[in-house]
Amino acid sequence: MAVSPKQSSSRIDRGAPRAGEHAIVIGASMAGLLAARVLSDSYDRVTVLDRDRLPEGVSENRRAVPQGRHAHGLQLGGQLALEGLLPGFRDETMAENAPALRAGLETRFKISGHDVARTPVGSEPGSVASRPLLEGIVRRRVRAIDNVTVREQCGVVDLLSAGGRVTGVRAKDRAAGSEPVDLRADLVVAASGRGGKVPKWLEAMGYEAPAEERVDVDIMYASRNLRMRPGALGDDKIVLDAAHPGRPRGVAMLADENGTWNVTLYGYGEAHRPPTDAAGFTAFAATVTDPDVAAAIAQAEPTNEIATHGYPASVRRRYDKLRRFPEGLLVMGDALCSFNPIYGQGMTVAALEAVALRDVLRSGDAKLAKRFFKAADGPVDHAWKLSTGGDLALPEVEQTAPLPDRVIDRYMKRLVATAAHDEVVARTFFEVTGMLRPPTALLAPAIARRVLRRGAVQRPAAQPPLTTGAGATAHA
Ligand SMILES: Cc1cc2nc3c(=O)[nH]c(=O)nc-3n(C[C@H](O)[C@H](O)[C@H](O)COP(=O)(O)OP(=O)(O)OC[C@H]3O[C@@H](n4cnc5c(N)ncnc54)[C@H](O)[C@@H]3O)c2cc1C
Repeated sequence: MAVSPKQSSSRIDRGAPRAGEHAIVIGASMAGLLAARVLSDSYDRVTVLDRDRLPEGVSENRRAVPQGRHAHGLQLGGQLALEGLLPGFRDETMAENAPALRAGLETRFKISGHDVARTPVGSEPGSVASRPLLEGIVRRRVRAIDNVTVREQCGVVDLLSAGGRVTGVRAKDRAAGSEPVDLRADLVVAASGRGGKVPKWLEAMGYEAPAEERVDVDIMYASRNLRMRPGALGDDKIVLDAAHPGRPRGVAMLADENGTWNVTLYGYGEAHRPPTDAAGFTAFAATVTDPDVAAAIAQAEPTNEIATHGYPASVRRRYDKLRRFPEGLLVMGDALCSFNPIYGQGMTVAALEAVALRDVLRSGDAKLAKRFFKAADGPVDHAWKLSTGGDLALPEVEQTAPLPDRVIDRYMKRLVATAAHDEVVARTFFEVTGMLRPPTALLAPAIARRVLRRGAVQRPAAQPPLTTGAGATAHA
């Protein structure tokens, strides 16, 4: 007898104790879907609500996730977390034609002008896939869990609360008509993205909104998919040439399941906006890539139009610091902390938060919010330190880094220069940025000795002048 997808993929980890009858998740993007996967082990039923129309297929962009058109790297730590939550995930991406990736070997990373040495990272090969495919496979897997229902075009307009706890949501479900409906739940997880309304809803319930930490980066992305000439980039699957002081613009390029490369150009501030016309795009690319990569881009065939996305600021909401917070509510993903996307951390942090949620639920649901925010702060803080540390080192980001960060930045410059020729340092660098190991691994005595032995930082290789592309000017 043939089994339906629901029957074939019921709860995966039944080791968790029962926490309640019904959990609601707001948002069916990466954070919300992964939360639902975890909650399905502890709640009798889980309902995921999203106001967007969700694609039936696995590789389609959708309106509420406009970032899907831009390069989306899933760090090794995120790949491992996803594999733990949804076993077989990588094989599913490869069954949809996602190229296999030998991380550290088929990745061409230039940081601060230094080519990071190639060295194998992680024990398992990974894969590289577009954002729509990653989300599409997660959505397909979560939809197939027998006690999870994903409802599209159903927007949450408020939280319901009573006696110091959140008791459900008020939602506008297009299928049910124009009147809002009240849906009761033992737990509500807000994974509604960086624009989510939880701070306002909390204030309306008589709680304080969380304090916000913010680093204004004023980044603009311009991306398009290109079909490269055969062999143009060798065996590489990811090419990254990151912004650095004096050149606040860069490129991130990822091969994908369609046989194309998603090429994202970005710049900090008005003067470094990437152009949106074909000639300007190619010219800007030449200012942020080595000549062979620039030539590959110039000779490639575009398969879509150029898409842009502006990102004003990294924002961390300190729910972990609130003195009062209602029971029955959690906040995850970009709604908790939204990172400058050029560091490629958001999906990985969402996956690691889901793992943190699974771990805290294994000890029951008492004081769940307090325990969850503490556990989630591990990956959040890791990613925040790396991304804001990098941003505050750029003179173009008009915020002064605290003294400890400035000391660390000097050390990081040496470390990256060392990583250009020292595989041990390069591997540690990849493991930390890949969120497999904590940032403190970069300061371990065995690494620090190699870094400090190196002496003064060498100047990076010369770059082409920043004189091409719209708004491109040399930075003094
Ligand atoms: C340009 C760009 C590039 C990026 N690149 C990378 C990258 O390379 N690597 C990486 O790991 N991350 C990257 N990110 C971040 C990544 O996209 C997010 O971290 C990831 O999608 C997790 O976000 P989320 O699920 O918390 O929220 P989102 O993806 O923003 O999704 C929120 C969902 O909630 C729904 N929603 C919102 N409000 C309501 C409501 N009231 N009721 C019902 N539904 C609601 C929305 O429709 C949406 O589906 C990038 C982000 C941007 C902007």
